[in-house]
Amino acid sequence: MSIKGVDITVLGGGIAGLASAIALAQRGAVVTVLEQSSALGEVGAGLQIGPNGVAVLEALGLREAAAAVANVPEAVELRDMATSREVARLPMGQTAVQRWGRPYWQFHRADLLAVLASGARAAGVDIRLGHKIETISDIKASVVIAADGVRSAIRAEVFNGQPASFTGQVAWRGIIPAEKLPAGTVKNAATVYMGPGRHLVTYPMRGSSVVNFVAVEERDTWSEEGWNIPDDPENLRRAFAEAGRDVQTILNAVDETFLWGLFNHPYLPRWTKDNVALVGDACHPMLPYLAQGAVMALEDAWVLARELDRAGVPEGLLAYERTCKPRATRVQKAAASNATAYHLRSGPSRLVAHAGLKAISRLAPSVLLARFDWLYGEDVTKGNQ
Ligand SMILES: Cc1cc2nc3c(=O)[nH]c(=O)nc-3n(C[C@H](O)[C@H](O)[C@H](O)COP(=O)(O)OP(=O)(O)OC[C@H]3O[C@@H](n4cnc5c(N)ncnc54)[C@H](O)[C@@H]3O)c2cc1C
Repeated sequence: MSIKGVDITVLGGGIAGLASAIALAQRGAVVTVLEQSSALGEVGAGLQIGPNGVAVLEALGLREAAAAVANVPEAVELRDMATSREVARLPMGQTAVQRWGRPYWQFHRADLLAVLASGARAAGVDIRLGHKIETISDIKASVVIAADGVRSAIRAEVFNGQPASFTGQVAWRGIIPAEKLPAGTVKNAATVYMGPGRHLVTYPMRGSSVVNFVAVEERDTWSEEGWNIPDDPENLRRAFAEAGRDVQTILNAVDETFLWGLFNHPYLPRWTKDNVALVGDACHPMLPYLAQGAVMALEDAWVLARELDRAGVPEGLLAYERTCKPRATRVQKAAASNATAYHLRSGPSRLVAHAGLKAISRLAPSVLLARFDWLYGEDVTKGNQ
């Protein structure tokens, strides 16, 4: 069995769609990507790719191109939002390479998308922009890969996807020019400032010339239908008015921001049907608190292409689902539970939790790192060329 010469349409030119297109085309499929937007890319925002995602970029032959635009953080740091005191520190940098075999990378999304798009074109993929697909019957291809994101039309149509519910959390995202911040305010790390009912994540990108931020707040209502709405930075500052000096300094430098409502999606019973498969956020949307949504999309892409090449339709698609779904479900659950850990309210339980983390981080950092072995240590490309 081989996918050589098989015509495959990939719906969506995000991380999942482009990575799938490359993996399939490199195995000989004739791949077309249909993307509704007139340009590939996204509003300014960052993306962290853990070692398990870097493994896939490497297997796709993109390691060098991606490394050229990646930032390599020294650590992931958890800090108290009021005092900026360190609660826990996970060394990354060389430690990640030694422990999990590959680095932990941070990107401007547009840079990673550009690397994937150029990899796709080099593999012979036909990328058609400005193509919005309303229904699956608009697509004539032997295999359809739906990589149409968190609000997937194909999930709703073919997989009877149920409506999402508001999580009670919203996220502001944006980018700050580094020159607007006093030197040293943002370290070369993914820094999580944890406060009651809210947190802020920052990290540098593009040779530390800009700083990415994601700020999450718990709130009762979300009325907007939109997913990516420009918001007044004053609303962001108001939401973090109780935060300490460092967080205030960072947020005072924000000129432009976008607001997302974060939604819970019911777990899908199936990811594949006949000759159609979902990949990426279309099948496993998750809260962003583990920075693994796009990474899981990369893992999907590799396994999907390998299994389709090995066993064809439908067996290969079913094998993809059997391999990736249990792991993605575990990651979805782990990401959701991080919200609770980050947002602990004031009081004894918060103090105890932070003190416990601090002690482990100081006395036995490898115990903290070991908690991520199942995630970052996985290499879906290993031994499976
Ligand atoms: C605040 C925040 C921070 C995050 N940080 C990280 C992180 O650090 N690391 C990480 O791994 N993940 C992170 N994620 C998750 C990550 O952004 C997603 O998991 C990832 O972008 C999913 O990629 P995708 O290709 O499945 O979907 P998308 O990126 O949404 O791409 C879907 C594409 O399909 C196109 N499309 C949709 N419908 C149609 C249609 N009908 N016809 C044609 N085209 C269509 C869209 O235009 C889009 O280009 C974060 C998410 C959020 C909200």
